[in-house]
Amino acid sequence: MDLSRFPRRRYTPFATPIEFLPNFTKALAASCPGGAGPRIWIKRDDMLGLFPGGNKTRKLEFLVADALAQGADTLVTCGAPQSNHCRITLAAAVKEGLKCRFVIEERVAQSYKPDASGNNFMFRLLGVEAITVVPGGSNMAAEMQKVADAVTAEGRKAYIIPGGGSNAIGGLGYVACAQELQEQLFEQGLRIDRVVVGSGSSGTHGGMVAGFLGNQIRIPITGIGVSRDPADQAPLVLKEAQAVLDLLGVPLKVKPEDVQCVGGFWQPKYSVPNARMREAVQMLARTEAIPLDPVYTGKIMAGLIGMARSGALKADENVLFLHTGGLPSLHAYEADVLGDTELPA
Ligand SMILES: *Cc1c(COP(=O)(O)O)cnc(C)c1O
Repeated sequence: MDLSRFPRRRYTPFATPIEFLPNFTKALAASCPGGAGPRIWIKRDDMLGLFPGGNKTRKLEFLVADALAQGADTLVTCGAPQSNHCRITLAAAVKEGLKCRFVIEERVAQSYKPDASGNNFMFRLLGVEAITVVPGGSNMAAEMQKVADAVTAEGRKAYIIPGGGSNAIGGLGYVACAQELQEQLFEQGLRIDRVVVGSGSSGTHGGMVAGFLGNQIRIPITGIGVSRDPADQAPLVLKEAQAVLDLLGVPLKVKPEDVQCVGGFWQPKYSVPNARMREAVQMLARTEAIPLDPVYTGKIMAGLIGMARSGALKADENVLFLHTGGLPSLHAYEADVLGDTELPA
């Protein structure tokens, strides 16, 4: 697939490494029925560029290039109170000499605390221009448009980036990831049987599906939901994958069977900790010294662990876990990750 006709800024000067996780693989097998489990590999998208990077970095390479091509001087985006996407968008803005404003959605009432740690601290450190806080369930597109109108009224030019950077342009970042991965598997002679990714605003999962279909990579992708069960998540991912293929001019139709979503690991609610997340974060930290985060990758890895224990991942499979980042929010949830407080299952 030809990405070269789309403008792109580069924020990561290398391919993110693929690593085998020997200690985690052993610990996981010991906790599986019969003492055998899949072999787990990881692709370190937590090492992407920006402050510190994560999956949003790849989408922003294409989104910010588009903003610059349109002559924008201000990025406007939205997210939850501990939004990795807002922090990475702000970091890209700083690097490009642009201003950046957020609309923060309080999906959990009263959860936005301006002086909180984690990403909120980084919003202030990186110098966000303005933050508007709105209640959960607000029309975020309309709220961002209001902010963009205020920017226009000042004689400036805003560029609106949707939540999670998940539109057709943002999804190109994960087509680029799919192509990078294909090259690495070939160079390293590595046979992967399944890729496990997080599935939220859907740019990562949808972009990967588009990249795998378009490049005829026949490795199944499993998307672990972080905010929705499959009945609600799969249509979003399918729509995103199709939008990306259409933008690329690839004459393929995404079929429902191309989109595999798994639910049950994000409850009780998006961003609210549960006990399986805590186990997953502690397990990867204590076997491989790789940090996960409580909102996304902790629950996504909990999904991988759950699938291994239930036999949905086979003992002889090579499974690649895509680490999508999120490190800063770990510091805003220290008690939930380390404490012995009772958490929902
Ligand atoms: C945003 C995010 C995700 C989810 O990715 P989407 O493209 O929104 O589906 C996963 N992990 C982390 C750390 C994120 O910040």
